[in-house]
Amino acid sequence: MYPEFLNKDYTVSTEFIYLAIVLAVFVFGRYLILSGLYQKLIYDRLSKVLSNRIISPKYPRDQQIREIMWSGIGSIIFGLMGVVMIMGWQKGYTQIYSDFSTYPLWYLPISLVVGMVLHETYYYWLHRWMHHSRGIYKLIHKVHHDSVSTSVWTSFSFHPLESLLQAIIIPVIIMIIPMHWVVLLVWLILMTLSAIINHAGVEIFPKAWRDNAVMKWLIGSTHHDIHHRRFTKNFGLYFTFWDIWMGTESHEFDQRWNKATAKA
Ligand SMILES: [Zn+2]
Ligand SMILES: [Zn+2]
Repeated sequence: MYPEFLNKDYTVSTEFIYLAIVLAVFVFGRYLILSGLYQKLIYDRLSKVLSNRIISPKYPRDQQIREIMWSGIGSIIFGLMGVVMIMGWQKGYTQIYSDFSTYPLWYLPISLVVGMVLHETYYYWLHRWMHHSRGIYKLIHKVHHDSVSTSVWTSFSFHPLESLLQAIIIPVIIMIIPMHWVVLLVWLILMTLSAIINHAGVEIFPKAWRDNAVMKWLIGSTHHDIHHRRFTKNFGLYFTFWDIWMGTESHEFDQRWNKATAKA
């Protein structure tokens, strides 16, 4: 028996509410644990031995508390979206599959890359739109930019409307692209890790990655830090290609990258 969204009298079902609460707690817990570990194990350690890799200094506790509060509210939105996806899957509205033999094994990484490129494309243009008009910016995106210096805690700090706009693309993509549920899970983990890496304020990518044909497309902390300080450049989510193609990559990036990745 699958959980139903509505009861027969059209009220929201208890299963829906319970599942949404469980998922919201899971999403928020995942944010707290992964962010806390990253701060302790990567930021704090690197700041002692390779200080040039620290691109954003530690900031006051009240900013951290504000970011954690917005992240908690965002977790409710992502939890609700999670339930919608689970119900959509069980009712056959999505292209999620659970048998590995449904498609060839080589399709697994392809579906992940296609999902991420679609997500990147959606977010890049959504992000530019949120910066385009002052009214939209103030209403939806300003909460995220209230953090000029960023840290792991900024990674999920969005206005609920922005969280909704960000989350809504995932069910749309899984309705279009066939995807094994394990791939979806890997994608969601990469999404969290990428957000933490890009906001943590410490550059962890090796210098050689900028010359690597694949790795050079990843955003990283230096790249996204420029967006928080300059607003009109570096709009990407996981990858840099839209910024490069559309001429929105900051000219400061090379110089800041070289400084952050120089041998101390
Ligand atoms: Zn950001
Ligand atoms: Zn922005």
